[in-house]
Formats: sequence, structure tokens, C-alpha cells
Amino acid sequence: MEELRIRLFNRMRFYRKQCPYCKHHYWTLNKDQESCGDQPCTPYLFIGNPPGKFRPESIRDVRERFLNFFERHGHVRIKRYPVVARWRSDVYLVGASIYDFQPWVTEGIVPPPANPLTLSQPSIRFTDIDKVGRSGRHLTGFEMMAHHAFNYPDKYIYWIDETVEYAHESSRRNSASRMTKSRIRRIFGRAAVMRVSASRFSWVA
Ligand SMILES: [Zn+2]
Repeated sequence: MEELRIRLFNRMRFYRKQCPYCKHHYWTLNKDQESCGDQPCTPYLFIGNPPGKFRPESIRDVRERFLNFFERHGHVRIKRYPVVARWRSDVYLVGASIYDFQPWVTEGIVPPPANPLTLSQPSIRFTDIDKVGRSGRHLTGFEMMAHHAFNYPDKYIYWIDETVEYAHESSRRNSASRMTKSRIRRIFGRAAVMRVSASRFSWVA
């Protein structure tokens, strides 16, 4: 595949490397990184050992922070769509946020409700339903937090460079919000507080 030349990667001097296990190329800021960091080349290393000053939050807080970030960057927040895809004849259920806009918006038949826009779309996927329950990795439902920009021949919104910059900036800001021990206990239970306390987390109270 042709190498992606991303503005942010050049500006921040990311290293382009090749994973010795899966042979895929990847970009990293860590010169000494040895593998792509993805499954199955690398086991999960972030559980109990987050890469930054991450603090557990409720789903509502995570969702709100994501949507707020994109609102502050010129996106209009829209309501989630139903999970039953009544506007489509090829699928029964919404499996990703882009389903909301297929085929009518993506085919140029109707304009998008806003452009660019952000939303959190409940999604249902049954592709690995026979594995559900065997591990924590296999699920049938999730919320896809999304930002969409629809480009037209006479109206360009943004593309890969801006998308990577938004992803980088929004994940960097994840460390900005804080949570008290009592709140973690309320949401995740006492064991979570002990696990978190053993890590490098800092506390507001
Ligand atoms: Zn790999």
C-alpha cells in the first residue's frame, strides 16, 4: 500500500516502522518501539498501565467530552439514529455511524443534516455473536462516537490530514478530565479504586 504522508506525522517527526510479526507498517513517536502494538502481535499492555494520565470516567462523561471536543472544532452535534435501519433496504440494523448516512447522503441524493457533524451512534453487530461470553472482547453492541465530513466537488470540508489531527488532539486531551476516588468507587466499585490507586493516577480529592 502506498505510504501515507500525513501532515501531522511530518510536523511531529513520527517514525515509520514495520512490525516484524504481522509485517504491517505503522507510525510511532517512540523510536524504540518494536511492534505495531496491535493484537495479536502485542498483548494488552494498557490494562492497569495506561500510556498517559488517564482517569476512569463514566460512559456519559466520555461521550460528552468527545462530542464537546468536536463541537468546539466547528462540528454540529446531531441526535443518534434508531438502531433499526428503516431507511435502508440492504441491512436490518445500524452497525456503525456511517450507516446513518447511507445511501442517501453518501450518494448525494440528500444533504447531510450538518457538515461537518458529530454524534454518538448506538450500533449492533452480530458478526461474532457465537463468541460472546467467552471473553470480554466479543460483544454485540457498542456506541460509535463519530465525526463526519462530507466532501463534494464544489465543497471541500476536510479529509485525512485534519482527521488524524483531530484524533491526535482529542486523545491527547483525554488526560484533562479528572475524577474523585469516591466517584470511581460509585461507578466501578472498590476493587477499581485499589487498582487505580496502585497505578500512576493522580487525584482531585
Ligand atoms: Zn503487528
